[in-house]
Order: sequence, then C-alpha cells, then structure tokens
Amino acid sequence: MTIEKVETLVVGGGQAGLAMSEHLSNAGVSHLVLERQRIAERWRSERWDSLVANGPAWHDRFPGMEFSDIDADAFPPKERVADYFVAYAEKIAAPIRCGVEVREVQRNVGRPGFRVETSDGVIEANSVVAATGPFQRPVIPAVVPEDSAVMQIHSNAYRNPGQLPEGAVLVVGAGSSGGQIADELLRSGKRVYLSVGPHDRPPRSYRGRDFVWWLGVLGKWDAAALEPGTEHITISVSGAHGGETVDFRRLAAQGMTLVGRTESFNDGVMHFATDLAGNLAQGDANYLSVLDEADAYIARNGIDLPPEPEARKIEPDPLCVTDPILELNLAEAGITSIIWATGFALDYSWLKVDAFDEEGKPKHQRGISAESGVYFLGLPWQSRRGSSFIWGVWHDAKFLADIISTQRKYLAYNS
Ligand SMILES: Cc1cc2nc3c(=O)[nH]c(=O)nc-3n(C[C@H](O)[C@H](O)[C@H](O)COP(=O)(O)OP(=O)(O)OC[C@H]3O[C@@H](n4cnc5c(N)ncnc54)[C@H](O)[C@@H]3O)c2cc1C
Repeated sequence: MTIEKVETLVVGGGQAGLAMSEHLSNAGVSHLVLERQRIAERWRSERWDSLVANGPAWHDRFPGMEFSDIDADAFPPKERVADYFVAYAEKIAAPIRCGVEVREVQRNVGRPGFRVETSDGVIEANSVVAATGPFQRPVIPAVVPEDSAVMQIHSNAYRNPGQLPEGAVLVVGAGSSGGQIADELLRSGKRVYLSVGPHDRPPRSYRGRDFVWWLGVLGKWDAAALEPGTEHITISVSGAHGGETVDFRRLAAQGMTLVGRTESFNDGVMHFATDLAGNLAQGDANYLSVLDEADAYIARNGIDLPPEPEARKIEPDPLCVTDPILELNLAEAGITSIIWATGFALDYSWLKVDAFDEEGKPKHQRGISAESGVYFLGLPWQSRRGSSFIWGVWHDAKFLADIISTQRKYLAYNS
C-alpha cells in the first residue's frame, strides 16, 4: 500500500483551515487541507436558516478579499458567508480535499511525523494543524430527561419556527444564538420563554460606529485573556434586521417572558434561579461601560462623531423581572419544545497525541501544542478575544505558519 506523504496536514476546511492554508502557502510550506464535508460546512448546515453574520461585511472577513455585492455595513446571510469562503479557497488555490474525514492521528514511533488514518486511506505528515473549530460538539445540560414529552434540540439543530411543534417554547441561554432564536420565534407568533444567564450586550452601534469598530479601537478584540471571573459570561449581539442592540426588556415588552438561569427539572416543573434582575443589571452595566469608554475615546482623540444621549436610556424592568417566575410547570404553560442555546464543547477524540490536559482540553500556547508538530487553530481565546472569529483566526494562522516554517528549518539543518 502506498502511503501519501505531506509536509503539513491541516484538518478542517472552515475559515481556520483556509487561513492556515493561505499563510502556509505564503511561507512556502507544502500542505494539504482535509475537510470531511464541504468548505465552511458549519455555516451551511449547522446554523439556522435566517442567520446573518454578527459583524458587518467590512469587518467579518479576511484582509485579502471583500464580500462581493454586499454593502460593507450590511450583515451577510450565512450562505453568503459560506460562499465567501468557497471563493476565498479558489482565490488562494488552497490544496483542499473535501469529503475526507480524518479518523485518527498518531505520532510515529522512533521517527518524526504522524500517521493519519482518513476515510480515504493513510497519510503521513510532518506536522498537523487541528482546525476543526471552536464549536464542535453541542452541549445540552442533563436537566430534562431525554424521554420527556417535550421536544428538545440544541441551537445548532434549530432551523426555523416551522420545525417546532405547536405550543410555547422555552429557549435556554441568551447569548447571541439564544437571543436571536428567541426573537425570531416571538416574531413568528410563538409564545416564548427565555432563560437569561449572565451576559454582556454591547451596543450594536454608538455615535455612528458599529460595536465591532468600538471593540477594535478600544483594544478589546486584542485582549489576551478573559478577565478572571468572567468565564461564564456570554456575549449577546445580533446582525439580524439590519443590526439592533440586544435588549431583553424590549423583547419582554413585545410579549416574551424572561426567566432566570435554568437550574433543575422535577415532576414536569422547571426551576429557575433568582438571578434574572441581576443578570439584566450586569448586562446594562456592560452596555453602559462601552458607551463610557467610547465617549472617553472620542474626547481624548478629539474625534467628530455625533452625540447620542438617547442611547443611555434604559427602560424600566418589566413585570417578569420584578416578579420573576421561579418555577414553571411546562405542560400547564403549554411548552412543547425546549431549545438549548447552551454552547459547545471541543472534541479531539481523533487526535491521539499528548497534547491534552486531564479534562481533554488542548495544552497549548497560542496554538503551539505540548506535542511538538501538533498545532491548534481557531480555539476561543487562542491568542486573543478575536481568535475564534473570522478576522481573528487569520492572524493566529499567520503566527502559526511562521512557527511551522521555522521548525521546518531546524529539522532540515544539516551541519
Ligand atoms: C451561530 C454562530 C454564529 C457565528 N457568527 C459569527 C460571525 O458572525 N462572525 C464571526 O467572526 N464569527 C462567528 N461565529 C464564530 C466562528 O466564526 C464560527 O464558529 C466558525 O465556523 C469557526 O470557523 P472554524 O474554521 O474555526 O471552524 P468550523 O467552521 O467549525 O470548521 C471546522 C471544519 O472542520 C471539519 N472537520 C471537523 N472534524 C473533522 C475531521 N475529523 N476530519 C476532517 N474535517 C473535519 C468540519 O466539517 C468543519 O467544516 C459564529 C459561530 C456560531 C456558532
């Protein structure tokens, strides 16, 4: 059996794999990208139909190519995002093979490199980049038994309101996915309960600039690590409907019932934490702090941007916040479905190398793993806040290509 040999194998053909390919090509490192389905598959088949990018087209892209036929300030629909990456792969002539799954990677014994078992044969690679995404395995907390009468799906399986049975719906989690899905369901005429945990909700725009711009000039995208104690705070933003600031009080005023963090389920009754008012107040504090920092930035730099005092108006708490529901009998409330917008876990079960801690999390520094020759790309906070986002992964890939290229030179050294 002939074994194909490659210098660097990139696993995954999403934005991370493509960014890696571009930078490896620029560094003159021959490589192969393997994608088990299609380029940018998750944008096509693991997100809801109406999803648009959370950032405007001028920002959520790679430096080398703009979106065609989309206003720079508009939010591209998810299919257009996937199309963008297909076009990008063509533009950089990425050596990508689709429909090939990497099943196992093992370090060679007694010689350098890795043996890679794929759905299309064995490959040997000197180095491997795991670019299989920041959001790999949907996580549904074990709260409601699977055999319960209510339909339960994760946000990555939600497509549109028509998919749900008649009746009310509980959306658990009010990050960008949960907030947008709950909003869509409410607009479709459904009765919606939204379980709101700790969150940040930056203004969509302020004083004429989108929040992605503010996070950029205020240095927040480049923050190297989460502030301690903020690990469980999700960020709730949306590009839907032209881009609006997420405002849970507005949703409540439109008929949505807000509840606190979902805690437990017994005998058909869901129990919620008493933290709803506190979570909204903390979201407001985050919102107002961005306005404060933006104002200070404008004043310090003497920039001419129109004042926007009305942005500071916060509506009073609705009844569901002042008198919160702490227990809810799902059947009596007519709830027939639950959407768990509760995040994702990593799954590197195919990568059989010494690069993980006891919890299975990658041990790495800016993507350089503890196992020499193995690299991670696209992890949340890999080097900065922007690492798992479209524009951020491109910069991390550039860094890794430089490291891989340097390592190659060491290995090629012959005195
Ligand atoms: C709902 C949602 C909305 C988002 N919106 C935005 C946004 O607007 N802007 C933004 O910047 N970011 C956004 N993100 C974050 C991020 O950009 C996406 O998660 C993006 O898909 C990550 O790209 P990636 O290439 O790192 O990983 P993925 O897109 O997950 O790509 C990994 C690829 O690896 C393949 N793969 C996995 N395992 C194997 C294997 N064993 N063998 C071969 N191939 C394999 C998969 O099929 C997949 O195509 C969003 C995320 C979510 C969940």
